[in-house]
Amino acid sequence: MSATVFSSAPQSCAVCGRQADTMDCFERHHLVPRCKKGKETIQVCIDCGDQLHKLFSLRQLQQTYNTLEMIHADSRVKRWIEWIRKQHYFGVCMKRKKRRRR
Ligand SMILES: [Zn+2]
Repeated sequence: MSATVFSSAPQSCAVCGRQADTMDCFERHHLVPRCKKGKETIQVCIDCGDQLHKLFSLRQLQQTYNTLEMIHADSRVKRWIEWIRKQHYFGVCMKRKKRRRR
C-alpha cells in the first residue's frame, strides 16, 4: 500500500500498450500468480488483465507465461492485442459481469 503516487501522466498497459489518464482503467497483473507466491507485477489494462486469466490457467501463468516476453510471444495474445487496440474504451469485457472489487 505504500508508494501509490498519483500521476496525471498517461498510464499504459504493458500488454496492449493502450493509454489512459486514469488508474481506474488499469490493474496489477502478477506475472506469477499471487497464489503461487508471485511478487512481480506489471501494469495492465483491465481488459488485458481479464483476458490473460481467460487464456491461461494459473499453472500456465506460473510455469510458462511468467514474463512479458512469453505473454507477447503467444499467438492468442497477439490476436487479442490486435483486437483490443481497436477498442477505444476500457472495460470492454466488464459489460457481461460485475466489476471486481478489491
Ligand atoms: Zn491492455
